[in-house]
Amino acid sequence: MAQNQRTRVVAAGRPHEPNSPVNPPVDFTSTYVYRPSVEYPQVYAREGIPSFEPLEGLLAELEGGAHGLLFSSGLSAVSAVINQLPIGGHLIIPRHAYMGFYSMAAQLAAKGHFTLHRVDIAETEQVLSTVREVAETARDQSTQALLWIESPTNPMLEVADVPALIAEAKELGVLTAVDNTFATPLRQNPLKQGADVVVHSVTKFISGHSDVIMGAAITADLDLNAALHGHRNLHGTIPGPMEVFLALRGVRTLAVRLDAAERNAAFLAARLDQLKDDDAVSLTSVTYPGLPSHPQHGRAKAQLGGFGAIITIDTGSQAAADTVLEGLRVWTPATSLGGVESLAERRRRHPGEPDTVPEGLIRLSVGIEDAEDLYQDLAQALRSAAS
Ligand SMILES: *Cc1c(COP(=O)(O)O)cnc(C)c1O
Repeated sequence: MAQNQRTRVVAAGRPHEPNSPVNPPVDFTSTYVYRPSVEYPQVYAREGIPSFEPLEGLLAELEGGAHGLLFSSGLSAVSAVINQLPIGGHLIIPRHAYMGFYSMAAQLAAKGHFTLHRVDIAETEQVLSTVREVAETARDQSTQALLWIESPTNPMLEVADVPALIAEAKELGVLTAVDNTFATPLRQNPLKQGADVVVHSVTKFISGHSDVIMGAAITADLDLNAALHGHRNLHGTIPGPMEVFLALRGVRTLAVRLDAAERNAAFLAARLDQLKDDDAVSLTSVTYPGLPSHPQHGRAKAQLGGFGAIITIDTGSQAAADTVLEGLRVWTPATSLGGVESLAERRRRHPGEPDTVPEGLIRLSVGIEDAEDLYQDLAQALRSAAS
């Protein structure tokens, strides 16, 4: 039966047999009883357990894929995907992308696993010309190329023309992977536009309560799914059963959490954008795909089902940003994002963040608290940094 995404997050992956629990049970076990007389697919938990299936199936349904695989973290899902490239292959990556991914790609490239090509993912013509060049080189070398798309990007919030990039890459035989963590499966479904694989940091919006580290990779391709499953097994990157329980419980409220957080983000972005004209605050710019001033606002509006719950503000300097973070009382200064609680972080505190990310940039992960409380807390902290 055709279902709305809002129904799927609540209804998918539930047992329907009489007397079964409404919530699927989770096996806390490393191994399964084996009698040679009975065929049973479960052998050892590292190969995956039935308890993964409700959430894996739910994510596959939400993304429009055939298969979902849970991983121990977002980065281990990413690692499984980029490991599909043969040694000597080519990886095209956004110049701004999740820092951990960026560092992993740079490390593997330095070891000679593949050649790295950096692009500004929002500049479609630039990306496409790189894709064409790399596709030709890969063909000459009889190797494979992979275009990695993250959109909106972490933390710069650049928005790619996802369908255009996928279409051209596909045409040229270049694989495409999309990190869909920021948009969530409720706002963007790249598999439906032809992407080979979508990855998520389930840690973020999908689990939604900042109490789980988990990742997922979703694909419509049976062979790719089998290869990723094989990688997960041999690298041992499965999530723990408690995490699976928490993430499935968390995803049930994804639609309402995201709606509430997005509403708050739109309100805050507009108010902060006005506040930046006030000389008594330390605020030079506000970036949010929902603001008409965002360079890809039109594209975001056309492609995304919502503008998301992440805003960045530039406070002008590291010192100002640090003062703002010290002054927050409702917001929690912490890394990560996508939880019910609002978090703020100066991204350049991480040495791995590229220096094109401004020193004074604070990434705001907007939660579901009262919007006015969130605004007043930020405003007082921004004022304290200016005085
Ligand atoms: C956090 C994040 C990751 C990494 O996920 P972990 O669960 O922390 O390993 C990957 N991509 C994006 C966009 C992220 O925000």
